[in-house]
Amino acid sequence: MKFIVLGLDGVGLGLIKGLKEEMPNLNRLLNDSAYGKLRTVYPPLTAATWTSFQTGKDIGRHKVINFFRLTKDFKMHLTSGLDVKEKTFYEIFDENNKKVFLLNLPYTRPPKIKGDIVYSWLCTGDNKDINLFHPKSLPEKYPVLDGYTPFTEHSKGYLKTIKDHLKLTKKICSVIEEIAKHDYDLSCFIISSTDWVQHKIYDKLLNNKNGRLARESKKIFAEVDRTIGNLLGKMDKDTYMIILSDHGFREFKGKFFVNTFLKNGGYLSTTGEGSKIKEDIYRTKKKRDVNLSWLMNVIKSNKLLYKLLEPFYTFFVYLFPFNIIKSKIDIKNSKAYCSFGCCPIIKINDNLDDKERNKIKQDIIKELKATGKVEGHDITTFYKGLAMEGDIIIDMKDYEIDNTFSSKEFLDIPRFHHSKDGFFLVKGMGIDNKLVKGARIIDIQPTMLYLAGLPIPADVDGKVLDIFRKGFARKKAEYSESNKSLKEKERIKSVIRSLSV
Ligand SMILES: [Zn+2]
Repeated sequence: MKFIVLGLDGVGLGLIKGLKEEMPNLNRLLNDSAYGKLRTVYPPLTAATWTSFQTGKDIGRHKVINFFRLTKDFKMHLTSGLDVKEKTFYEIFDENNKKVFLLNLPYTRPPKIKGDIVYSWLCTGDNKDINLFHPKSLPEKYPVLDGYTPFTEHSKGYLKTIKDHLKLTKKICSVIEEIAKHDYDLSCFIISSTDWVQHKIYDKLLNNKNGRLARESKKIFAEVDRTIGNLLGKMDKDTYMIILSDHGFREFKGKFFVNTFLKNGGYLSTTGEGSKIKEDIYRTKKKRDVNLSWLMNVIKSNKLLYKLLEPFYTFFVYLFPFNIIKSKIDIKNSKAYCSFGCCPIIKINDNLDDKERNKIKQDIIKELKATGKVEGHDITTFYKGLAMEGDIIIDMKDYEIDNTFSSKEFLDIPRFHHSKDGFFLVKGMGIDNKLVKGARIIDIQPTMLYLAGLPIPADVDGKVLDIFRKGFARKKAEYSESNKSLKEKERIKSVIRSLSV
């Protein structure tokens, strides 16, 4: 039995249906599979979503939320495979002597399995010297890997960036097609460019527009679809094909500058406002309405990209339709702050005493509600009592989070950002052709393990999806032992009983 898993970052069902012409294979395949929306985790950030996919667990349990986090001594910590402490599906395949190939799956470094791995752009951080392959000799075995890089060299201008993503996607697709010929029990490939282009022109793609940028971007989706066709052509009856995305996209009304909001409320101090004047000058010039927040967010979350792009900073400022003030949060002297890009979490300074921290928390939650545009929740309650880093989680509603400073708290400008529904499909022996409702990203790991006849960790949050054809001889799901309470074990048993009908 063979598993081919293809992840299309950020692709929703609406987009697939909107791109019928560019994606005929995927559209046909949907009708020929068990498929549906795939509800992701909140916040739907790429680090969190792919970790939930791998582990079958909610954020509250695996605790990976963003590309970075602040350590107790206020240092930036780049998330790595060491932060993913819950067991992933591929480790379980590997432990059971299945041959595994992983490409561009976040947080596979340092490697937890024998091989073969091509690391993702999230695994290498700002270290250009990191070898992308495990084992290092992998390109000798597969010459198609020669010249492979996990990201594009970002340049000024949308069109060039989109063209670079097309080039990157073509390379990834040629690797996928080559690897699929070999006898891996499990191969898992993630394509990231599908997310990156939507941040820029989601609306034009969804409505199948034919401007220059849309035309170039659609070639990326057509390339992915061509590869899906290629994989389908090779698929035999012992192969399960799983295609999924980690979230979808949607339009937001604008931006919420959360740190500006906290500063205005007297909770946050800043430092180093030196470059304000330069930006004020730019501000008086006529601005083009151009959407660069995606780029800024990626740059701000990735030291390597930031270094690479710093020379273009002035260029960004010039193009930005609003004022960017280059001030930084004075973390030690702030009562509350939001430390990273688009992550909707407010942290309250640990150095304050519990009573004050709690009062600040309640006050901020009240003040967020008073905006009438976003809401805040106590993070511990939100993640069902599991200890999390941070104190308040913001329900973004129609506003994406920006942690830079602006003269406004809210800026109404259409944004394209992650939505809560991705999609999934499963095709293979015994799988029905039907629309499956209520599937969640955490269900994919247990479903895959079930199909492979491998033990499911007893403490997964997800469940085996009901994707089977009527009359298909179902085997019992097998759960591995864990240190769960008796009550939890009973709950799991009843889930298993309900599954093995
Ligand atoms: Zn994503």
